[in-house]
Amino acid sequence: MRDRFLELLGPSGWRSTPEEMRPFARDWLDRHGETPLGVALPCSTPEVAAVLRLAGALGLTVTPQGGNTGLNGGSVISAGRPGIILSLARMNRIHEIDPIGMTATVDAGLVLQRLHDAVADHGLMFPLHLGSEGSAQIGGLIATNAGGSLAARHGMIEAQVLGLEVVLPDGSVWDGMRALIKDNTGLQLRKLFCGAEGRLGVVTRAILRLHPAPRVRASALLAVADLRSALKLGADLRRDAGDMLAATEFFCETGLEMLLRHLPTLSRPIQARGPYYLLVELASASNCADPEAVLADLIESAFEAGEVLDGTIAASDAQRAALWRLREEMPEGQRLEGPQIKHDIAVPVARLAEFVAGIEAGLQTVLPGVRVNPFGHLGDGNVHLNLSPPPGAGFDGRESALSGLVYDLAAGMGGSFSAEHGLGQAKVALADRLRGATERQLMAALIAAVDPEGRMNPGKIV
Ligand SMILES: Cc1cc2nc3c(=O)[nH]c(=O)nc-3n(C[C@H](O)[C@H](O)[C@H](O)COP(=O)(O)OP(=O)(O)OC[C@H]3O[C@@H](n4cnc5c(N)ncnc54)[C@H](O)[C@@H]3O)c2cc1C
Repeated sequence: MRDRFLELLGPSGWRSTPEEMRPFARDWLDRHGETPLGVALPCSTPEVAAVLRLAGALGLTVTPQGGNTGLNGGSVISAGRPGIILSLARMNRIHEIDPIGMTATVDAGLVLQRLHDAVADHGLMFPLHLGSEGSAQIGGLIATNAGGSLAARHGMIEAQVLGLEVVLPDGSVWDGMRALIKDNTGLQLRKLFCGAEGRLGVVTRAILRLHPAPRVRASALLAVADLRSALKLGADLRRDAGDMLAATEFFCETGLEMLLRHLPTLSRPIQARGPYYLLVELASASNCADPEAVLADLIESAFEAGEVLDGTIAASDAQRAALWRLREEMPEGQRLEGPQIKHDIAVPVARLAEFVAGIEAGLQTVLPGVRVNPFGHLGDGNVHLNLSPPPGAGFDGRESALSGLVYDLAAGMGGSFSAEHGLGQAKVALADRLRGATERQLMAALIAAVDPEGRMNPGKIV
């Protein structure tokens, strides 16, 4: 096997010693990942196709891997399903930025931050921001249909994918690289690969939609009386600011206190303590807009109504970055705190406060003293509900009971058990429990139609 892959890809395209494979073998959270039989690093679409054909001939399974920042173990080898990893790391070129059509044509292995930097030079922006953007790749973001902080305004990444090129499990190449907003020529195949988590093939290139970069913006951090007030403020902002409303992110005092303890270089930007904090950003590409005035007006009325306890509007780019860091480092603060149980829930926006209040009370009945750290994207009802055990204690074997409560309450409200992180291998059993049989069979049938031998990333999704 080694010689065949070395012959195909050369020494820089194949890794097979334990030392060489270590960076690829385990997932971001170090929870999943069997040692692969090898790691292929092709540097072109024909090479990806050749790797899939050779893997097929050798009877090997293939797991595509991007930046390996996925949170459900999708990018590493599942237990009992030995195979190779196909890393896109060497396919990282920006082929074209079209300032008239406002599109970018890129390789799947391009790291998101590099795309942000490149399009900024053209006065454009790509509306996807998330804490992992320094490592996550375009192909991985598409394969997980990533959301992030701008999703309420711009949608998940699928809304920005115009064209795609995908190498199918048998090594054939689907060329869907069309830079078209309108293209109703049958099934919307590109949508099928958004969220497919590598089960239908390897995304190798994409044409992405760009947007004018904001010229004016205003960002504020507000301590709010409760989540209900935050939701009301979010809805008021949508009405008054319209398309200017770029993001409404929230976190709580439990999470902030944890973060400041573990990352002491960060500091509190406002005196008053939450229970909750709302990070709001208004932005516009038009110089005529005045987002700061709109924001200041709304904050004033919310302050008078007792919904906002305290707040600050960023006076500089550095202050804005400091506010955003508090939100973006929330997962890191939680990780440094020690053992944790993570949930990525979405509920209908109007029911977010009801969900969080209900779950906070319910969890205490399962494990008194459990610390609940909800944070996330208010505008799309997406809450990352992370749990830490009571100080100095463990979860005491109650992990399944705690998570079961979270998932059942969310399901009862018409929510999602995986809002933006996908299923990977971590949530397959959960999906089997919560997803209707018809939905599961439909997904299994689609995967089997494209990959009858079940060689692409087995053990993920279904
Ligand atoms: C600190 C932090 C913050 C995060 N914040 C967010 C957030 O706000 N919103 C959000 O949605 N996610 C978030 N995530 C999760 C993660 O960053 C996303 O899931 C991201 O989209 C994964 O991209 P990746 O390149 O790292 O993919 P990987 O982790 O390498 O892979 C993820 C899945 O995609 C498949 N895959 C990868 N590349 C390809 C390809 N080219 N073709 C086909 N399949 C492929 C893999 O097989 C796997 O199933 C966060 C993660 C971290 C660590």
